[in-house]
Amino acid sequence: MMKSVKIQKIGIVGAGQMGNGIAQVCAQCGYSVTLADISEAVLEKAIKGLHGRLQRLVEKERLTQNEMESAIANISTTTDYAGFGACDLVIEAATENEAIKKSIFEKLIPALRDDAILATNTSSISITRLAAATDRPSRFMGMHFMNPVPVMALVELIRGIATDDDTYTAVNDVVTKLEKTSITSEDFPAFIVNRILVPMLNEAVYVLQEGVGGVADIDGAMKLGAHHPMGPLELADFIGLDTCLSIMQVLYDGMSDSKYRPCPLLVKYVEAGWLGRKSGRGFYDYSGDKPVATR
Ligand code: NAD
Repeated sequence: MMKSVKIQKIGIVGAGQMGNGIAQVCAQCGYSVTLADISEAVLEKAIKGLHGRLQRLVEKERLTQNEMESAIANISTTTDYAGFGACDLVIEAATENEAIKKSIFEKLIPALRDDAILATNTSSISITRLAAATDRPSRFMGMHFMNPVPVMALVELIRGIATDDDTYTAVNDVVTKLEKTSITSEDFPAFIVNRILVPMLNEAVYVLQEGVGGVADIDGAMKLGAHHPMGPLELADFIGLDTCLSIMQVLYDGMSDSKYRPCPLLVKYVEAGWLGRKSGRGFYDYSGDKPVATR
């Protein structure tokens, strides 16, 4: 068994909302970060957003000017994998599409050292299946950050069937250094958080579809009655209704159990392009100053 190296340099593939947040927290905690995406334009936008978030932390006095500058100095960007040979850990956080992730691994792996660990931030794709598409299933695992990464305390760690103990320990040590807490999930559809959370959101859409309650009733019920910080429909809009639907589909297919069937109203919203906050409309309309319930 190959002993894992101490992790100092981290590569991140995908500079979208998750990769960008992961880069921020890693750089703030002293890791040297290389952030890759498909184009300079995407990277520029990501870095601009990241600088803006750090600047706001400075304004709120949660970060000093020096800490901001050293975090920024810790990050470099690239559109190819030539520099990834220096990385001890690479976290793949690209689009949730198995073919895209596999094609990234194909191009990335020749650049990696044999002892480098490869982790994926996938929300739902089988870790074991992704691992099997690499040359290093024992040094491959799931490292599932929550959105928004700088705010959320949890990282869900998922071992593939072949993940070795050194890999798990090295990645868990990174989570600790990032001042986050890990829980461990076996590699089953949607892991732990989304396995429990997303069917609850789907059930809220059934409750809406059946007319048991309106949007405000449903969200108010769970906020005040179950002490949830956000109502389920508000949260579904935040996550993205397309993402919620795709997780339900992974559960439905992966568990072959009808209790995970996606609610037809959720499917209809996604087909309409009503994807939640990111498209300006979901169960709420976000075009005005305040979100307005639509049903
Ligand atoms: P996103 O769409 O914001 O970002 C994806 C990024 O991947 C984009 O910048 C895109 O240009 C890039 N990309 C696509 N193909 C690429 C390629 N071939 N090489 C390099 N970069 C490529 O998506 P996101 O919300 O950041 O999600 C990324 C991953 O994180 C997914 O696997 C998703 O399931 C997971 N995740 C998302 C959330 C969430 O709430 N959004 C939470 C946890 C995990």
